[in-house]
Amino acid sequence: MQILVINAGSSSMKYQLIETDDKTVLAKGLAERIGIAGSRVKHQFTKNGASIEKVVEQDLPNHNVAFEIITQLLTDKEDAVIASPEAITAVGHRIVHGGEKFSETQVITPEVKETIRALIPLAPLHNPANLIGVEAAEKFFPNAVQVAVFDTAFHQTLPEHAFRYAIPEKFYAEEKIRVYGFHGTSHKYVYNEAKKYLKNEKLKAITIHLGNGSSMTAIDENGHSIDTSLGFGPLCGLIMGTRSGDIDPSVIFHMLEQLNMPLEKIKNVLNKESGMLGLAGSSDARDVAARYNEGDPNAALTFEMYGYRIRKYIGAYMAALNGVDALIFTAGLGENSILTRRYACKNLEGLGIELDEELNVDNNHADTPVEIQTPSGKVKILIVPTNEEWQIAKEVAELVAKA
Ligand code: ADP
Repeated sequence: MQILVINAGSSSMKYQLIETDDKTVLAKGLAERIGIAGSRVKHQFTKNGASIEKVVEQDLPNHNVAFEIITQLLTDKEDAVIASPEAITAVGHRIVHGGEKFSETQVITPEVKETIRALIPLAPLHNPANLIGVEAAEKFFPNAVQVAVFDTAFHQTLPEHAFRYAIPEKFYAEEKIRVYGFHGTSHKYVYNEAKKYLKNEKLKAITIHLGNGSSMTAIDENGHSIDTSLGFGPLCGLIMGTRSGDIDPSVIFHMLEQLNMPLEKIKNVLNKESGMLGLAGSSDARDVAARYNEGDPNAALTFEMYGYRIRKYIGAYMAALNGVDALIFTAGLGENSILTRRYACKNLEGLGIELDEELNVDNNHADTPVEIQTPSGKVKILIVPTNEEWQIAKEVAELVAKA
């Protein structure tokens, strides 16, 4: 089955065309700066065994035009990946917020779209962009089944004691203020890969997704997410590229009342100027690692803080799970940053967590699941490359096959 996976943001759209029968990526690309000057589509595919990249620099006033270009690229006379748009069985859309309504992947009906729209107050930046992507795809691939895969769905198994905040009940009952969690597709994918790799059907794991946005999830022996570090929105938990992660809300009141900072400015500071950027001057761990190697004390403190926050959550989630079989590192920093894994596992021998430094270095950028604990370490430490697009394609194909 050929499935087109779409991840639509407000000014960008990532896509992958996947053949699910043999798990191959037929083409992938990115439309960027939609609605902004300097827009373009980068398109990659393989021809006669060679990887080819085409860049189309063209005005993309909206997502419809972006889809038009992508369709042309996929069906190009010389370099066609598919004969016509009809070859695509289904389009899988990554939808950020499914609220409490969706705990599973859904075929997109008018009712599902309405619900995604009704959830906009919970995800004001993402859900509108995701919906624009759905509507553009409906136009260009009218024969394909449109399917929604929600970032929040995997965390709908959280028990109430984990998803509620200790604020008056009406805020939950009437306003649905609670922990939702995100990155569900990635946590679920790497957990299942680790389960297969370790041949442990009852795996208790802590998945550690460290990208620009980061989160950790405690997954029990039944494969259920029972706690996760992102909450109502994307600001809490771990230190991220530009987001602060956990912070005492009193800081916000202080900024507002004593420092007279407007709310918009505070939001900007916590979302866009904090995290690694705020501590070390760059949101990219590669830059921070380079400074660390030059002996920059801010970079050293950043890795120490970044790792310490992860260690605190490891402790919390080992308690939540009553012990753990495996830690699973994934995404940009989890897969590629030796320093991050070193600091995230530092001084945890008392909990049975012992990173083998040589394996940590040798297996950086692993492209299949790999173990990096010492022989005496009780807890497995794994690097598992994430593949959210494949997880989406797989769920879409399973749903379409059932229908
Ligand atoms: P996103 O959350 O946008 O999907 P990714 O999972 O791709 O992001 O992670 C991107 C981040 O991963 C980069 O900003 C960078 O900090 C980090 N990263 C990527 N490659 C490396 C590397 N080789 N060494 C250290 N960090 C890396």
